[in-house]
Amino acid sequence: MDIGTVGVMGAGTMGNGIAHVFARSGYSVTLCDVEQKFLDRAVETIANNLEREVAKNKITAADKTAALARIVTTVQQVRLAECDFVVEAATEKFEIKAELFRDLDRICRPEVILASNTSSISITRLASLTKRPDKVIGMHFFNPVPVMKLVEVIRGFATSDETFQTVRDLAVKLEKSPVEVNDAPGFVSNRVLMPLLNEAMYTVMEGVATAEAVDEVFKLGMAHPMGPLTLADFIGLDVCLDIMRVLHAGLGDPKYRPCPLLIKMVDAGWLGRKSGRGFFKYSGS
Ligand code: NAD
Repeated sequence: MDIGTVGVMGAGTMGNGIAHVFARSGYSVTLCDVEQKFLDRAVETIANNLEREVAKNKITAADKTAALARIVTTVQQVRLAECDFVVEAATEKFEIKAELFRDLDRICRPEVILASNTSSISITRLASLTKRPDKVIGMHFFNPVPVMKLVEVIRGFATSDETFQTVRDLAVKLEKSPVEVNDAPGFVSNRVLMPLLNEAMYTVMEGVATAEAVDEVFKLGMAHPMGPLTLADFIGLDVCLDIMRVLHAGLGDPKYRPCPLLIKMVDAGWLGRKSGRGFFKYSGS
């Protein structure tokens, strides 16, 4: 099936990036969220990020205008009925995604592939809630989406080879590098990354070192471009906590228990960069 219009469910950090790359690659995009204010903020972010690409001579001003014109926003899920492909990028909670997949299965044509950008939730479980488990797949982009090359393409238990090939080809059309991964809690990226971030949080909680010192160790000693706590703030501490909980529940090993300091910070509303405060303080856009 030819893919012309792509639906993106959820217009947060990842949803706006995903809408950005599809629109920049010539696809029409229907961006859906629960409130118009989230959609307005997403379009503003996309416009700013496209402008940055113009300033770096990666695209022209006309490309920017054309990409923005390809994006329509809506709070009505039924508008996704027009889409040929849907990527879900809503909040990392199983109940939210479960309801969305049931809704999308009802709304979208039977041949439409439903992809999830989830960081850790089982694709197999989401697929089982639909009448098209062969057409449900993980398409896991990385933050910031317009910049990062990797897309983990996650095969659920029932994902067909045809669906996998379509999504792999689509990632290449977006100038991304797809890597094939099987469905398991956290896939590869977060199965390995999140315990590292979580352990870095334990060292701060136990007074082994300050957040600044922990980040310096990784930048200077391991050549990481960003320390683990800056990265956790960038991802969102709520997102990190949700992923640790999925790893803990899904793998059943106490080594995956979320750091109590992480839980406390999320309870306090310190969500990292997006809330202005996490392990570090942020001001401005
Ligand atoms: P976010 O909190 O920034 O955005 C989530 C958006 O989903 C919000 O705008 C929210 O209003 C919307 N939403 C909630 N319920 C909805 C519904 N029923 N219908 C439509 N929209 C709904 O979160 P995010 O960081 O963009 O994460 C989104 C997904 O991407 C999660 O599954 C997350 O695990 C995954 N992910 C995040 C990162 C990251 O670095 N933040 C990286 C890779 C993958």
